[in-house]
Formats: sequence, C-alpha cells, structure tokens
Amino acid sequence: MPSILILEFEPAYLQLHCAGELARRVEWAVASLKNCLVCPRDCGVDRLADKFAVCKTGRYAIVGSYFAHFGEEDCLRGWRGSGTIFFSGCNLRCVFCQNYDISWEIRGQAAPPERLAEMMLELQAQGCHNINFVTPEHVVPQILEALPHAIEGGLRLPLVYNTSAYDSMESLRLLDGVVDIYMPDFKWWDRELARVYSKAPNYPEVARRTIKEMYRQVGDLELDERGLARRGLLLRHLVMPGSIAGTREICEWIARELSPETYVNLMPQYYPAGKVGPNLYAEINRGIETREYAEALECAHAAGLRRLDAREAARGKRLM
Ligand code: SF4
Repeated sequence: MPSILILEFEPAYLQLHCAGELARRVEWAVASLKNCLVCPRDCGVDRLADKFAVCKTGRYAIVGSYFAHFGEEDCLRGWRGSGTIFFSGCNLRCVFCQNYDISWEIRGQAAPPERLAEMMLELQAQGCHNINFVTPEHVVPQILEALPHAIEGGLRLPLVYNTSAYDSMESLRLLDGVVDIYMPDFKWWDRELARVYSKAPNYPEVARRTIKEMYRQVGDLELDERGLARRGLLLRHLVMPGSIAGTREICEWIARELSPETYVNLMPQYYPAGKVGPNLYAEINRGIETREYAEALECAHAAGLRRLDAREAARGKRLM
C-alpha cells in the first residue's frame, strides 16, 4: 500500500524535548559553531564570533522570507499551505540557482532563536500544515536552538527538512527523532557535473550517504486520512536539459538502495537563472524539452519506482 492512515499525530520532536535530549543536542550543536563543520564544506570558521565562509551565515540564521506556500507538493501544501521558512545563504553554489538573490547574495532578517520560533508559531497560527525549512543545511544548530522555544510556545506541526542533501552525517544524527519529513533534492549523479554546476565535486557521494540515512530514520512517506504528509521521505529530482543530472542512475539507485515505494517528485520546472545565460553555461540556457521529461518518466518507471508525484508528472506531460 502506498500510504498509511495515521489518525493521531504527534510530532517526532516532542518526545525528545520531554526527555531532555533536545536540550542536550542544542548545547552540543551550538558549541559546534565554534569550529564549523556543520556541512561537508568543513570550513572550520568560528561562527559563534559571527565569522562566516561559504554559506555566508554567521551566528544566527538569516531568513529571506516565510509564508504559507501553495506551490509545494499536494501532501505538503494541503488547503492551508506549507509553512515555509526560506533561509538565506547556502552551502552549494549552483550556477542556475532559482533563488539566487537569497542563496548567493544574503537578503533577509537575522533570526535569533526566539525570533525563529516566533516565525514557526505564526505559521502554525495561520493554519499551515507543517513547518518547511528550505535550504537548512548550514543552519541546523540554529534550527535546533529555536525549537525548544517554539515547543514551549505550543508548536505541534510536523517539521519538513527541505534540503539539497549536501548535509553532514553529524547534522543528521542531531536531527534524528526531530525531523518528521525529510525532503532531499538529489541533484547530481556525476562528480564532474556537480563540480561544474554546483561547485561541489563530492556532492554525489555525500547525497547517496545522507539520503540513505534520512531513509533509515523515517522510512517511506506516510500520509494521513486527508492525504497530508506526516512522516517519511519525499525525494525530489530536478530534470535538467540534456538529462545531465543523471536521472536514470538516480532512479535506479533509489529503487535499489531505498525502496520502489519511495515517494519521488521528478520536477520539470528547470529554467535558466542565476549565472546561466547565452555567454555562460549556454548549454543549460533553456528549459527542458518534452522528450527529455518523457525520458525521465520512462527512467523512473523502468527502475520500478511506483510512487511518482502525480501533479508534477501531469504538469510535465502537459509540456509534451
Ligand atoms: S555550514 Fe557554512 S561555515 Fe559551516 S562548514 Fe558549511 S559552508 Fe562552511
């Protein structure tokens, strides 16, 4: 069965909070900012002293925007939206970044833990179905630090960790039992392409390792009786022009190493942005073609994947 009914829902983090384990993790995570190895960049800068490196983020998270988002998958947006918090800064350097202004440049408000907690509670008060942390890889300690404040303020929504998968294993250990829904975007299969387009040659092996760990923690995506995501893994993959992202290999890996029941969203919405233009990275200066999306769907079916996001697949087919 692709989905499981869950009539009663309690977010994963409540138990850890009550047991005092969340407080211990916060202490450890914040101290780790002194010599930052929070993500696989391993910069080693002292973020407690507000120093920063690749992610351009010092002591506090910077929030570009937060709002009820209706563009996410149906199981996240529901009818009241996904409570999305977009973090500014990023540990990848994707040349085609569609959030270039907040990821490469830094825009937004610094959010100390109390303020970040308030944002979560505001989104809950608006009726959002979940709290969706977008680009969180470099601010895991800051998210953890804010969480007890939010819980004390009444937060009870599931947490969505919306990541590029360029995470450290230590971050994932800290998030075990905290995150309800992992939503990694598996971007690249090939090291050289990851180097050229995201400036991270070790991205493929990092993503394979971290996504397996995410799956170990939460398993296949479970929906409640209303079709809302409650716990599990929702994996995204952006189909690229010329199929350069390695869609076939990624689909085969998902079916083989995770499960054919993995919920997968093959995203057709690539468009040139960021540094891409007629004179730079011209080979990806176009949207994907209809046959490229059709091939991506074929790859997923051929690999045996049985839970493709229906709305995005239909959207991709409409391109055809
Ligand atoms: S979180 Fe930022 S400072 Fe820390 S290792 Fe990653 S990119 Fe470097």
